[in-house]
Amino acid sequence: MQVYKFGGASIATPERMRALLPIISQAERPLLLVVSALGKTTNQLEAIVAAAAKGEVEEARTLTAALETVHRQYAQDILHGAHLQAAEEAMTLILTELEWSLDDAAHQAYDYVYDQMVCVGELLSTTIFSHYLNQEGCQNAWLDVRDIIRTNSHYRDAQVDEAFTEKAVNEKLLPLWNAQSIVITQGFIGATDENHSTTLGREGSDYTAALLGSMLNATKVTIWKDVEGLLNADPRLFDDTIKIPQISYYEVIEMAYYGAQVIHPKTIKPLHNKGIPLAVKCFLNPSLEGTLIDVNIDAAYPPIIVCKKNQVLLEVISKDYSFVTEDVLSQIYELFAKHRVKINMMQNAAISLVAAIDNRQDKIAPLINDLQIQFMVRRNEEVELLTVRHYDEAILNMLCAGKSILLQQKTRKTAQFIVR
Ligand code: ASP
Ligand code: MG
Repeated sequence: MQVYKFGGASIATPERMRALLPIISQAERPLLLVVSALGKTTNQLEAIVAAAAKGEVEEARTLTAALETVHRQYAQDILHGAHLQAAEEAMTLILTELEWSLDDAAHQAYDYVYDQMVCVGELLSTTIFSHYLNQEGCQNAWLDVRDIIRTNSHYRDAQVDEAFTEKAVNEKLLPLWNAQSIVITQGFIGATDENHSTTLGREGSDYTAALLGSMLNATKVTIWKDVEGLLNADPRLFDDTIKIPQISYYEVIEMAYYGAQVIHPKTIKPLHNKGIPLAVKCFLNPSLEGTLIDVNIDAAYPPIIVCKKNQVLLEVISKDYSFVTEDVLSQIYELFAKHRVKINMMQNAAISLVAAIDNRQDKIAPLINDLQIQFMVRRNEEVELLTVRHYDEAILNMLCAGKSILLQQKTRKTAQFIVR
């Protein structure tokens, strides 16, 4: 049993979806396909939610009509005959649900409305994809993932009830393979015990694939992306990036922690815990070897560079010059935890502590208010956090050239800098 995850970019156009056919038809079975919404559909749905919540009903309807047209044209491009008809009927039902949520939107909590509407993207894309594969001879069963992924009602960031979900996987997903060797379902979405739709956080499809893969004891989970694999730096920021052929889960979780947007951070744990390998492959060129992430990989890595922009450096200083001892530190940490502000890098001195955090004004302002009861707080805006794993001095000199360094830390394997 293996899992393939296809993101929005891999099915952005009918041509792209057609190009996935050989990948899927040659795959080892049984196969679970976990699929995102087409292209940037989730962003478009977010715009619809925003309009509907503001009571801009006309705008919301216009945007919905545009979204519907794109999906219907996509289906007409790729499907024909009975498959087209069946897909159109299914899409009508899904879009009707969207219309209903639209009518309700202004009277309901924003995050709740968001999840009821945004889940439509994945339901539509998988409907088209499932019919397309059936039409082309890749017989498959379509599954509404909301019937198996049970979550709490923390809308937009729902937490999965793993015990319930695992049971549902055994009872509802496994039997589907008796009839078909491929099952296709949605990433990113789930449902509460009252059958309200939920979402697991943006880009959450990787996580769905990992979670289901671990519950199914898959032999491998493959994420199909538009890059050739995991690179040692963000190619939008650096030239001459190097593709990493094999890498350990440990290394990837470090990269994700320091801010690399390679794979959704929640993806790693379920797979690592079961010892299931994760492959990253390129859907544009499936013959490329990609990257294999596994538990016991003992490779020599190139320097891995992670750049986290838009950071704020907070300096917290004791007002009366008392030392920042363990008890004071834990008071400061408690305030960060209370406001759910994650510390990306920190250093303490005699009477102060400096911490680099994401620039989220909505969280920082109340945090500072609380801190100021006991401490003086200074802030440096618009700084960057640069992390280099497996560094050498040459690469650090190159990266820091022309920048002013506000803070630095080095361990044997990791060097970190706050720069401007
Ligand atoms: N479609 C969702 C998003 O764009 C989930 C995903 O792509 O993983 O965030
Ligand atoms: Mg996506």
